[in-house]
Amino acid sequence: RQKPLVVANWKMNMSLEKALHFLNSVQSDPQDSTVVICPPYPLLYPVNIAMKKLQTGVQLGAQNVHWEDHGAHTGEVSVGMLQEVGCNFVLIGHSERRMAGESEEAIQHKVKQVLQSGMYPIVCVGENSEEFKQGLTSQIVKQQIEAALKNLPNISNIIIAYEPVWAIGTGQSATPYQAEGVHQTIRQSIHDLHGSIAHRIPILYGGSVHAENARSLAAYENIDGVLVGGASLEVKSFQSIIRSFN
Ligand code: 13P
Repeated sequence: RQKPLVVANWKMNMSLEKALHFLNSVQSDPQDSTVVICPPYPLLYPVNIAMKKLQTGVQLGAQNVHWEDHGAHTGEVSVGMLQEVGCNFVLIGHSERRMAGESEEAIQHKVKQVLQSGMYPIVCVGENSEEFKQGLTSQIVKQQIEAALKNLPNISNIIIAYEPVWAIGTGQSATPYQAEGVHQTIRQSIHDLHGSIAHRIPILYGGSVHAENARSLAAYENIDGVLVGGASLEVKSFQSIIRSFN
């Protein structure tokens, strides 16, 4: 089994002061798991400096990126800029961005651009509550995986995060058993598109992951890690999630 990945998505939260305090206390052993923190853009640079100085063993990720190298794109950020401030990972197609109008075409361009740069894209997929109630989960995630991963020459750096929209920030997580089932479906669709490399692609679960449910998620074969929102804002809960995956 591959090394688990524990990813913090701070979304539009934290301040520089809180972030530095967080980094002073968080500990990760890169031999046990890969821990990644995705702060808001303005914190990337100072957080990277602090990570290096404190030798936290934690890696840096961004929450979004543009698909072009440079140009007249006010408010956007390129892969080169992210690499310059020490990012190795980028979230792509988070449901909160899809809801803000990000198209599947944009997501595909972004995934391609990030793969070309050598960074790791974390591609987020997941059904909303209406789709869940109608039993459309498999169909939706398959279609999102196809849209994001088709026509890519080499997907070996890709990471997938399954985040059912109804589980995000609601306190109502998918059961580990439910998540495992969807992860199997995701792995099968990757296999249909790209063959046996599918077995080596990490698939993370996200949506109300807390200190209390992390260990039972970690026990499932196809749950290779977690993407954590709310519970990643406090060192205590985040540290305990990291420990669940050791
Ligand atoms: P919560 O952990 O707050 O439910 O958020 C999940 C998420 O959206 C992570 O990307």
